[in-house]
Amino acid sequence: MQRQKIIIEGIVQGVGFRPFIYQLAKRFGLTGSVCNDTRGVMIEVEGQVGALHKFGTAIRSEKPPLAVIQSLNTQEIPIHGTTGFEILQSRVDETRRVQIAPDTFVCDDCLQELFDPADRRYHYPFINCTNCGPRYTIVTGTPYDRSLTTMAEFQLCDACQAEYDDPTSRRFHAQPNACSDCGPGLRLLAAKGQPVTREDPRFDPLSEAISRLKKGQILAIKGLGGYHLAVDAGNQDAVLELRRRKQRDEKPFALMTGNLETVRRFARVSKDEARLLLGVERPIVLLQKRADHKLAESISPANRYFGVMLPYTPLHFLLLQDDFEALVMTSANLSDEPIAFEDDEACQRLGEIADAFLIHNRRIHTRTDDSIARVMADRPLLLRRSRGFVPRAVALSVESRSVLAVGAELKNTICLTRGDRAFLSQHIGDLKNLEVYDSFKQTINHLQSILEVRPERIAHDLHPDYYSTRYAIEESGLPTVAVQHHHAHLASCLAEHGVENPAIGVIFDGIGYGTDGKIWGGEFLVGDMKSYERVGHFRYLPMPGGDLATKEPWRMALSCLLSIYGEIPDNVKIFDSIAETELRLVTQATRKGINAPLSSSCGRLFDAVASLLDLRQKVSFEGQAAMQLEMVADPTQTQSYTYLLSQDADQIIFDPRPLVAEIVVDLEAGVSTALIAGRFHASLADMIRDVCCQIRQQTALSQVVLSGGVFQNALLTEMTLERLERSGFKVFTHSLVPPNDGGISLGQAVVAGLRHIQ
Ligand code: ZN
Ligand code: ZN
Ligand code: FE
Repeated sequence: MQRQKIIIEGIVQGVGFRPFIYQLAKRFGLTGSVCNDTRGVMIEVEGQVGALHKFGTAIRSEKPPLAVIQSLNTQEIPIHGTTGFEILQSRVDETRRVQIAPDTFVCDDCLQELFDPADRRYHYPFINCTNCGPRYTIVTGTPYDRSLTTMAEFQLCDACQAEYDDPTSRRFHAQPNACSDCGPGLRLLAAKGQPVTREDPRFDPLSEAISRLKKGQILAIKGLGGYHLAVDAGNQDAVLELRRRKQRDEKPFALMTGNLETVRRFARVSKDEARLLLGVERPIVLLQKRADHKLAESISPANRYFGVMLPYTPLHFLLLQDDFEALVMTSANLSDEPIAFEDDEACQRLGEIADAFLIHNRRIHTRTDDSIARVMADRPLLLRRSRGFVPRAVALSVESRSVLAVGAELKNTICLTRGDRAFLSQHIGDLKNLEVYDSFKQTINHLQSILEVRPERIAHDLHPDYYSTRYAIEESGLPTVAVQHHHAHLASCLAEHGVENPAIGVIFDGIGYGTDGKIWGGEFLVGDMKSYERVGHFRYLPMPGGDLATKEPWRMALSCLLSIYGEIPDNVKIFDSIAETELRLVTQATRKGINAPLSSSCGRLFDAVASLLDLRQKVSFEGQAAMQLEMVADPTQTQSYTYLLSQDADQIIFDPRPLVAEIVVDLEAGVSTALIAGRFHASLADMIRDVCCQIRQQTALSQVVLSGGVFQNALLTEMTLERLERSGFKVFTHSLVPPNDGGISLGQAVVAGLRHIQ
């Protein structure tokens, strides 16, 4: 006989862990108890040594689907002579290390019940169990208990309470457990906020919502982490009307479709993409459109992809049962505002957009957007890491001080570290918007409180004017560590892969503040998670109008042409759409270097080429021109344009001007857009390989990291990977952490955690 104390850390609360332990203990004839504490789960078991051993093995091999075991410590303690096995109340303890699970899509067992007319939760839109349902979005504090979730306001009915108390039930201690008698319900509101009702006692808000969608109306639908705006994706007029009311020119709308088979009707789905679509996180996945699809073209104009997700809440399944091939389900916000998540706020902000509101009374405590992913080089790549992933930790290979990192300005996320775990927040957005900035501050407080972390220092970008930087310096009251933007990108990829040795960092993105006060963005670094050196970069070119250049690609084309020819060559016709006085003023200013900061940005070179090809002269969202250049490119091109590499002091300089000059010649000769765009991508990939070979000669390093927003581009990433691997490099690309600025906070956190400060 022996008694053991077992402490398990990880995601072990709110995922059915205690009933699982209870049943295991019964199976092996063990006595003792199990309880949640603030670190995780604590078990005391007593019995035969052989049975205890089997019990220990089974914990790992049979754990509930949503549980993540990070550590399991067993210790022998004196025998008690206990008789039964008990589940004890949660204990509160000083060392707080618990982890909240992410929100998870409705499980198969619950789905079965949802569509079983004999089940007491038949068609109940809030069905859930310990294996599925809302978590992060409803949690208000720790430990994870109903009283600290937004379900606290609902009193369990007798039937639900019995399940909640029964260790053999799938709903034992399922905190959001509910049914139509005791739990949240749906309501339908008209645009002005008054409830829609009918005399008919059987009036069902859901069927009314479906019939309105069928008629082409726009509905605001309250979901898990916020509101969606929904329309029938097959109805071109409805989609156009939504676009008009939402003031969102061309940014693609996400789609939701009932099942994988239906997705295949309008998009191509590879095996890896199917796995991503079906994963418990249920992200939006970018999928290639089929030429013969029947959906509205205005869902994602000038784009070869649809962003598609499968239903993830019971309500979604009910909506999509059999009525639509797909619904547009786009986050409910006006351009640049955060996603709406509170009822009054939603009715106020969306009143002009939605014809009706399908809402419910389960409060959303933390707004969380849908995650976005694509498959690149046969691996999943998260472009936005949010609902379904947050607040799952990224495991770090090194333990460091506790840091709060506040990220960049666009696509902002924050990151908190605790020991060897980094907790990356949900997507927060563009901090220039006041409401987004408020949500940034709320997220900082909320994450600190549910993770019980008191950071010792705060990490921020070098850019002095970012709102996140100002928050760190002026408001946080913590010792600050400034981390260079591209070093943060490099460190975030190294951290994701647990690489501690130095690597060559190919960091290409839009804009990041450099140590020389210039705008960087086409950088070759050598470094690790602590420090870095810049060893090469794109030649500096003026960025006419500063930030305006990111919105108007013609400005960078003009800058390149002026730098090459001193004037606009006669055969270049792309500036016809620009007002003459504006063109003349910008030309003069650029020549004199007025309001034209120098930049080595690779993103801006994409803009310049997209403009020369006349794909677009103005963009309606960040990175749109670059995305279109990728879309039109012929991926089979392998021949590159001429590019110039030179050595300036200790820097390798890539001068893109000869390449741009050749493109101008090709345009004159009538070479196709697809071919030019393809050769442009191939040139960059060749150039990266050549520069990396030079750096390898100087440093003997053969590990390369590809990071920065430019590497959301699948064509460039795949071409570069192929060339680097053929030249014997080991290449690290992102997968679970975005290569764009959504990953910056993780990089900042690890750099700041390891850096020495007085
Ligand atoms: Zn379930
Ligand atoms: Zn109930
Ligand atoms: Fe960046």
